[in-house]
Amino acid sequence: MSRPVVAIVGRPNVGKSLLFNKLAGERISIVKDTPGVTRDRIYADVEWLNHDFILIDTGGIEPDSKDIILSQMREQAQIAIDTADVIIFMVNVRDGLVDSDSKVADMLRRSKKPVVLVVNKVDDFDKYMPDVYEFYNLGIGDPLPISAAGKLGIGDMLDKVVEHFPDYSVLDEDDDRPKVAVIGKPNAGKSSLVNKLAGEKRTIVSDIAGTTRDAIDTEIKYNKKKYLFIDTAGLRRKSKIKEDLERYSIIRAVSAVDKADVVIIMVDASMGITEQDAKIAGISHEKGKAAIIAVNKWDLVEKDNNSVKKFTNDVKNILSFMPYAPIIFISAVSGQRVYKLFDMIDAVIENSTLRIQTGVLNEIVTEATAMVQPPSDKGKRLKIYYVTQVAVKPPTFVIFVNSKKLMHFSYVRYLENKIREAFGFEGTPLKFIIRERT
Ligand code: GDP
Ligand code: GDP
Repeated sequence: MSRPVVAIVGRPNVGKSLLFNKLAGERISIVKDTPGVTRDRIYADVEWLNHDFILIDTGGIEPDSKDIILSQMREQAQIAIDTADVIIFMVNVRDGLVDSDSKVADMLRRSKKPVVLVVNKVDDFDKYMPDVYEFYNLGIGDPLPISAAGKLGIGDMLDKVVEHFPDYSVLDEDDDRPKVAVIGKPNAGKSSLVNKLAGEKRTIVSDIAGTTRDAIDTEIKYNKKKYLFIDTAGLRRKSKIKEDLERYSIIRAVSAVDKADVVIIMVDASMGITEQDAKIAGISHEKGKAAIIAVNKWDLVEKDNNSVKKFTNDVKNILSFMPYAPIIFISAVSGQRVYKLFDMIDAVIENSTLRIQTGVLNEIVTEATAMVQPPSDKGKRLKIYYVTQVAVKPPTFVIFVNSKKLMHFSYVRYLENKIREAFGFEGTPLKFIIRERT
């Protein structure tokens, strides 16, 4: 399921973070089950009436001088234009209309992306309303007064935002092309890979008029089968500021992964694998997507008999939360092994949509519990009544037990391993829900 992406753009101190936090509430994305992965507060899943969307705060590091504020804002606005379906442009009523606001407004207007202009810090409507009208001069529509601090006007703002959401039901209908997201650190080789795969016949897809999304996806044909590489326009963004680039790679990954059936996580072999790779890969894991790890620039590595094994170990160490993901060593530039990716894509998607019959599943689980007894506490032992698969993408299992408290996470891990031994599931995470039955 695709969810729209909403980005907040604005000068430092206008109140972006506060609005983000108010909207995100408790739902700020933090990976609990992904050891070693901490996440900056960059994105959150938000629910408003019947609309789910992803909220992004494009504000990165605080600029320390006036003259870089504008270039930084342009940078952020461009990120929003690249990745968001709707942009919330925030200004501050207390500062009035500032020159950099106008410049960014020009940029947003030219992008033709839907923009909702909000004037923040209108804590008192009677007092500040006259100052709000000035922002009509930005030429990007009606300024909406809000107070992030006082939670005023937020409902009206969200109503406006939701109005601009693309109709994904139209987009997704009849589209059985596998959707692939390519994510990874800046310079890992993402654009090189998509370019290589697309070859001469690169087509920027725009078959459905009036939608903002297709223009940035790339259709690639292989063996007469069509694949859609998601959000490939965003791949080409470059920035001079390292922190911005890294933040950007996370923002881009979040929106692309959400729409994808399968994620290719690109690692730069010449740089080794790092925590930043784990951070980005964690997004795929957290969203339960099928994944392939592509170790790129393998041509640059001086190899001996042990190189593949050694790098594989490094990957397994740093990305220890996703042992299910197959690893392939490629060179996006020379093209070495890149076409193998298509078979892998097909295979892991198939695995992520696999359904196991309850009968067969319980045979495996009964066998497993006979081999290793379930945990017990103070004389009471965990009983597993039965297991059933309730969903795919990712395959999700409900385990009915006598007591949730007795179910230890290492035992779930054990059962997961047994299920994988029996049914494969390579490339896809599995989800387990423990439920008490009395
Ligand atoms: P950002 O840099 O755009 O993310 O801005 P912040 O969210 O960090 O807010 C900057 C300052 O403005 C903080 O001190 C906030 O408490 C304050 N602020 C944010 N929204 C409001 C508001 O609606 N009213 C008032 N009075 N202050 C606000
Ligand atoms: P992106 O930022 O992830 O999209 O990375 P790019 O595709 O722009 O690649 C960054 C740099 O790495 C470029 O100079 C590429 O030519 C280079 N590069 C990408 N893939 C390979 C590869 O497989 N081998 C080598 N030697 N260089 C590569």
